[in-house]
Formats: sequence, C-alpha cells, structure tokens
Amino acid sequence: MCYAIPGKVIELKKNIAVIDYFGEKRNVLNEFLEIKVGDYVYAQGGILLNHVEQEKAEEILNFWEKRFFELKEVDKNLSSIEKVEASPNLLEILQKVNLNQELTTKDMQDILALTSNQELELLYKSANSIRQKEHDNACCVHGIIEFSNYCKENCFYCGIRKDKNITRYRMTVAEIITAAKKAVHDHGFKALVLQSGEDYDFDEEKLTTIVTEIRKLNVLIFLSLGQRSKHLYQKLYQAGARAALLRFETSNEQIFNEIRPGANLKDRIQLIKDIKEMGYVIATGFIMGLPKETSNDIINNILLTKSLGPDMHSFGPLIPTTGTPLETQNKPSKDLVLKTIALTRFIDRKSKILVTTALETLDKDARRQGLLAGANSLMINATPKHNAELYSIYDNKAGVTDNLQETIKDTVDLLYSIGRAPTDLGI
Ligand code: SAM
Ligand code: SF4
Repeated sequence: MCYAIPGKVIELKKNIAVIDYFGEKRNVLNEFLEIKVGDYVYAQGGILLNHVEQEKAEEILNFWEKRFFELKEVDKNLSSIEKVEASPNLLEILQKVNLNQELTTKDMQDILALTSNQELELLYKSANSIRQKEHDNACCVHGIIEFSNYCKENCFYCGIRKDKNITRYRMTVAEIITAAKKAVHDHGFKALVLQSGEDYDFDEEKLTTIVTEIRKLNVLIFLSLGQRSKHLYQKLYQAGARAALLRFETSNEQIFNEIRPGANLKDRIQLIKDIKEMGYVIATGFIMGLPKETSNDIINNILLTKSLGPDMHSFGPLIPTTGTPLETQNKPSKDLVLKTIALTRFIDRKSKILVTTALETLDKDARRQGLLAGANSLMINATPKHNAELYSIYDNKAGVTDNLQETIKDTVDLLYSIGRAPTDLGI
C-alpha cells in the first residue's frame, strides 16, 4: 500500500526545502534532515520527514506517474462548474469568492441559510473548485491512535467524560509504540495523531518516551492530549512532536462555560496560541450543534479558527451521546456541516480542512461529500479495535475496525475515485 508520494528536492532556502511532485512545487520545513538538491524525500503536514533511497523513490514514482495525471484530470472534471442556476444573491456572493474578495457577515449568513438542492450543489462545487485551485488534488491522510479513555474533564458532550460510567483503558507505553510501528511499517502512515482524554497518568516522562520512540519512525507526530501544561507541550516539542490538535470547541464564551464546567475559554485559546508560538503545526476548530448555537456562532467559530493561523481546520457535528448531559440535543444536519466546510474554504482558501469522524458518523457517504465540498484531509483510526471500541466519545463512532488494511483500501479507493493523490500539501 502506497499513499505517500516521494518528492524531489529542487531548491534549499535556509530551513525551507522546495519539493517537486511531477512538476508541482511545495515548500516544506526542514528541521530533521541533512539533505541536498536532487534527494528524494517524504514530507507530511509541510514538514520533511525522511530520505527515500533513489531506487525506491524511482520505483514508487514510476507506479504513480501515469496515475497521478489521470487523477488530476478526474479532480479537475469534478471541480469544474458548468451549469449555473442560482439566485442573483448567491451568484453575487460566488462572484466575490472567485475574485477573492472578502465576504460580509450577511453573505456568510446567507450561505449557511441555503436550502435549495440546486444552490447547495453549486455552493459545494464552488468550494471544491477553490480547493482545487489552491491545493490541486493533494490530500492528507493521518492515522489516529486513541491511547487512553481516562479523562479528568467533564465536557457535557463527551462520552468519555469523567463522570460517565464506562470501562476505562490505558494502553501501555509499549503498546502505543507497537501500534505506531504497525501503522508506519505495515500500513505506511506518515502522520500519526496520538489522542487521549486529559489523562495525567501520562506524565512528562511517559509521553516523552512515547514521542521520542515514535519520532524514530520518521512520522509527523500530532498530539491531541487536551489542555495540558505549556511546559509539557514544550518538552514534547523537544522530543520531536511537531503538530497539535486542540479545538477551542466554541467561540461563544457563554456556551463554553455551560458545556465545559470549570474550564475557561480564554485559557484554552491562549494555550493554542502558545503552542503555535512554540513552532507546532496547529489544527483547531469547534463542535457544531451545541445548545443555543446560532449561525452567527458558526461564523465566529470559523473566523476565530482562521485568526489562530492553523494549518488545519478541524470541526465536526456534535453527536449526542447516551448518558451525557447533551444526550437529547438535536444533531446538526449533514448539509449544515457541508455548508460550513464550503464557507470555511471561502474564508480560509489555502487551509487544510478535515472531514471528521463525527461527520462520517452522521452519514456514511459524508466523507466523500465533505471532500467534494472543500475539504482535503482525512483521518483513519489505527487504534487496536478492542481499545477503539472503548474510546466511545460518541455513540456508533465511524471507522472502528479490526481490518485496518481494508479501511485503508476503502479510503484510497475513495480518494482515487474523486481524483485525489497523496502528495504533501506543503506550507
Ligand atoms: N481530550 C482532548 C480534548 O478534549 O482536546 C482530546 C480528545 S477529545 C475526545 C477530541 C475532540 O472530540 C474534542 O475536541 C471534541 O470536540 C470532540 N468530541 C467529544 N465529544 C464529542 C461528541 N459527542 N460529538 C462530536 N465531537 C465530540
Ligand atoms: Fe475529556 Fe476531551 Fe472528552 Fe472533554 S472532550 S471530556 S477533555 S476527552
């Protein structure tokens, strides 16, 4: 299985390397490698990860060469807009988007309020077309290892909150490293998200060991540990972690205070800023569909995400979960989430936008639909199945499998069917 394409180094400028993928150029950060022009490398998340032997690189590139241009063609066809039938208002908004002009709050509200199938189709195609123009057909696929469902927090939405009576597990350090090795060596992942509840049993020493060992596999390590200390994030950066996924959850302070008792929105946002300042690549965002949320909150959420300068937007629908205070809350509709993906693509054109597992849980075909509405990143669950089943942040979570190879194949088939290729998106 091969879903990362090696790039050729064509230029070096201080700590930035320019990589070529069949004529497409990307800038990537080089901190870890001694490289020279002409070398073949793997990059992920805009970071250079490892050398690839010339012979091996050429073999992989031979496999890809014809297919790469075929995929680009499929992607171009799917993102081209032929028929344009919509209200003058929507056409005016889309014209602004095409001219790269700023949208007003009313424009954004109008986008979120669209209901006609024809207009929604046009909206999603327009967002897909911007994605294609900005990123071509590149797509990120990250693996996720959910290593502990212990949590000291009590977020109202979450199925592993402290007060919920569930079977708890902690993978051992050795089990986490083994799962990471399997994900990298057997399945070819180039980026791994290490996620858990806020579990202080994983202290600085344990986490440093985990990051140090996994870093040796030449993967991009994404931390998703919650609101841990700045000091810890600093230590883990030194150990080799380079990316962090930390959502602010909602930009509305009143809603935040109601659904995250004891937590503080300003502190959470400050931590995201601090982590970015340390040099981490940041993924951040929000949950959609929290009680009392309005479309203005969604717009403010997107704008706050953008202002934090993330590498990736991560937002998804609330999946109301049995036994939590929000179990009777209505789920947001799939179309509202797709409209939010499209709007995010218009507001932050160059960003990576993740299709979350929560969206996939809402609807089986949502992964494809999200990718065709402006998104360009996916996650695959690489947690051993017996643990993944207990990482029940919401009911019927998608992507829990005992056949990772098959899940990867399904994902790659989906990406090929819509013309996406695993080149790195660069920085
Ligand atoms: N504990 C860490 C934290 O909160 O940042 C990382 C793990 S937490 C389970 C990851 C994300 O899951 C949270 O940021 C939250 O947005 C999302 N989440 C939790 N419960 C959810 C639910 N019922 N529906 C949708 N997303 C949920
Ligand atoms: Fe814990 Fe994260 Fe769930 Fe909140 S969302 S209860 S911090 S795991």
